[in-house]
Amino acid sequence: MSGRPFLQIPGPTNVPDRVLRAMDRPVVDHRGPALAALTRAVLAGLREVFGTDEGAVLLYPGSGNGAWESALVNTLAPGNRVLAFDHGSFSAGFAQAARNLGYAVDLVPLRWGQELPPEEVEARLRADDPARPYRAVLVVHNETSTGVTSDVGAIRAAMDAAGHDALLLVDAVSSLASIAFRFDAWRVDVAIAASQKGLMLPPGLAVLCAAPRAVAIGERGGGSPRHYFDWRPHLRDNAAGFFPYTPATLLLFGLREALAMLAEEGLPAVYARHARLAAAVRAAVGAWGLRILCERPERASNTVTTVVLPEGVDGDAVLQRARERFDLALGTGLGKLKGRVVRVGHLGALNELEVLATLGGTELALRDCGVPLTLGAGVAAAQRLFAASPALASLSAPR
Ligand code: PLP
Repeated sequence: MSGRPFLQIPGPTNVPDRVLRAMDRPVVDHRGPALAALTRAVLAGLREVFGTDEGAVLLYPGSGNGAWESALVNTLAPGNRVLAFDHGSFSAGFAQAARNLGYAVDLVPLRWGQELPPEEVEARLRADDPARPYRAVLVVHNETSTGVTSDVGAIRAAMDAAGHDALLLVDAVSSLASIAFRFDAWRVDVAIAASQKGLMLPPGLAVLCAAPRAVAIGERGGGSPRHYFDWRPHLRDNAAGFFPYTPATLLLFGLREALAMLAEEGLPAVYARHARLAAAVRAAVGAWGLRILCERPERASNTVTTVVLPEGVDGDAVLQRARERFDLALGTGLGKLKGRVVRVGHLGALNELEVLATLGGTELALRDCGVPLTLGAGVAAAQRLFAASPALASLSAPR
């Protein structure tokens, strides 16, 4: 198919040309001085994106699952109790990772489409067993399967209100660098991310940020077996700009470029752009006569929209139609949402015209698969939103 492919899944996202060019170079000596300067630059840039002065950033060749494991094995001991919530595929997955690693997980079922209610966190912590308290609360900032963003600041306040000192471990895989993340202000203990979403890189890097309290626990060692993910050699070598293993050197060059692009646009403008593009997608969904899965409009995600399909319309058929007819990749329904929804990703390097094209292809595919919509309705709704508030130059997508 001629023209560019449209990768509008909620990650991996499109990699800007500048980032591709930055990675298109000979592989360097990972023990040489060039690498040390590069490491320092990317760690400093990531601290900005996490919103931290004191947090320690850790980078591994890996993915979000690796970052989950790294967070858990450095802060917990086998058998430790952990509080987790199931309101989507990734919150359930984070809990399962903890279970697989030998922690005692209490998993609270919630509705898929619900945010994580802070009052639920507070109630569970108040009712905790003081003889054997929870050591960590697992939170997903942006649930990529349902398109719902939880309020991490309010969750931290709920933990404070309960007077509980469990660690706050937050998955920011599909929010970091797209939706504001305030590591220090929310007193997050460990944040978890990956390269292939808001950071505009290919898959391949697990990214974490650990607060001093979590680093201190990691230093003592919680008691879990660990090798590759052990923070101690990592932080020691990082201080000199190196790693205790062979790092993904070319991805680090790409990361430095991506961080430069985020800084040039300005993080507030990056977040405003995501909010604007997301609002346009939601306007289109409404104009198609469909609804989003997120129950409360104010918690709707600015990186992914999960669209509920009418009875009898198969989400996977819509995806297949979009892919085969338009080279447009949309996100499938995960877990129990399989076939019932389609997910439109709108994060990373993305601008208004790309969103309009995505909506145009999506509405054609929906119509072809039996959704009774008026062609152009969704695109027009998004155009009206864009026209009503002309974008600032800084809101155009990075290139
Ligand atoms: N957490 C969230 C919120 C995600 O969206 C994903 C993947 O999409 C993951 C964790 C798992 O990350 P990975 O697939 O990079 O291991």
